[in-house]
Amino acid sequence: MIDPARRAAFEALDAEDPLAKLRDEFALTEGRIYLDGNSLGAPIHAALRALRTAAEDEWRGQLIDAWNDADWIGLPRRLGTRIGRLIGAAPGQVTVCDSISVNLMKLISGALALQPGRTRILSTEDNFPTDLYVAQGLSALLGPARCELVCVPREELASALDDRVALLMLTQVDFRTGVRFDLADMTARAHAVGALTLWDLAHSAGAFPVALDAAQADFAVGCGYKFLGGGPGVPAFLYVAERHLTKLAGELAAQPLSGWMGDARPFEFDGRYAPASGIDRYLVGTPPILACRALEGALDVFDAVDLEDVETKRLALSSALIELIEGSEVADELLLASPRRGEDCGSQVAFRHPEAFALTRALVAEGIVGDFRAPDLLRVGLTPLYLRFVDIFDAACRIEALLTSGRHRDPRFATPTRVT
Ligand SMILES: *Cc1c(COP(=O)(O)O)cnc(C)c1O
Repeated sequence: MIDPARRAAFEALDAEDPLAKLRDEFALTEGRIYLDGNSLGAPIHAALRALRTAAEDEWRGQLIDAWNDADWIGLPRRLGTRIGRLIGAAPGQVTVCDSISVNLMKLISGALALQPGRTRILSTEDNFPTDLYVAQGLSALLGPARCELVCVPREELASALDDRVALLMLTQVDFRTGVRFDLADMTARAHAVGALTLWDLAHSAGAFPVALDAAQADFAVGCGYKFLGGGPGVPAFLYVAERHLTKLAGELAAQPLSGWMGDARPFEFDGRYAPASGIDRYLVGTPPILACRALEGALDVFDAVDLEDVETKRLALSSALIELIEGSEVADELLLASPRRGEDCGSQVAFRHPEAFALTRALVAEGIVGDFRAPDLLRVGLTPLYLRFVDIFDAACRIEALLTSGRHRDPRFATPTRVT
């Protein structure tokens, strides 16, 4: 059994943790250890405040004038600039709109427009499904002669990357195991054969430093409600490198979702679409203002944070968790599915267990909130901004206690849920 006396050492780590005070910024529930910030970020007080201000002072108080007076209309770009700082993108290349799925449609189309004569989109078989689904949809729309999705096991990427590839489309951190691509290295390999890159940063943004401009990445998308903590269903972001914004400026097909918010003069209502210059043309319809304001509040927390410090603490949390589980009585049952070397992994640790679904549900019932990914993964998300070292210790002890007791075999934990 994990020795309870070891808890003191974890308390000592918390006492010297430079990020410890950030925990107060989060509206956490006492007694619950939230290990699912990689799926839905925990609420940030500033996000809840911004949401209330947007509803009461702006919507109720200013009514339609808030579009100008509270600069609602400027939100997508304003948020884009702030997120840009977290992903290494200079202003003017990031905006906030729609979902990742919808943004992928825009960016894959743009990449194909930049690559006449090339039709292939290369990705991994284990990529997040929506990325593959959107590429499949675009391929069906354009026909295989103009757009063809090729998926390979990640070990075969290097050999599949050749001069037929228009776009290399990858998710930086695998949502199941956490295994992480070296973004700069893969971008350079793609460029070496004349391919462009589209990075899905859903599990990267706000979790660790990303340097898109420095890597000369071409396109990227990412999520507002995971590590960035904007709240359920807040819009995603997209990045287009400045050099491509310039090249694509005249091409209508480069962003086929040509909605009025992406028009140069939406309030002239002249019926002839003329794309706005720069990143603004990637907007489609009316921005979800309440959601954008919540995300704006959440981003306040990141202003005071150096993501290098977050990464340093995450490495310590993840190696502590792995060491505790592998030294416990349940080490034979819970098999590490994530890279052992923290540097090769995103901000999560996944373990395989044949009863992972019931185990996850039973843990939630006991206040340890992780999640399940089919077919057999217990996924533990690590958010160093609020997680304490004692949380990792307590979670490991409770996982061990639960599995040795067999309580997870209670039939009530077998009932499938619509969302996992
Ligand atoms: C969560 C997630 C998404 C979400 O896509 P939406 O279209 O915004 O719902 C996309 N890609 C990855 C890798 C994700 O983890």
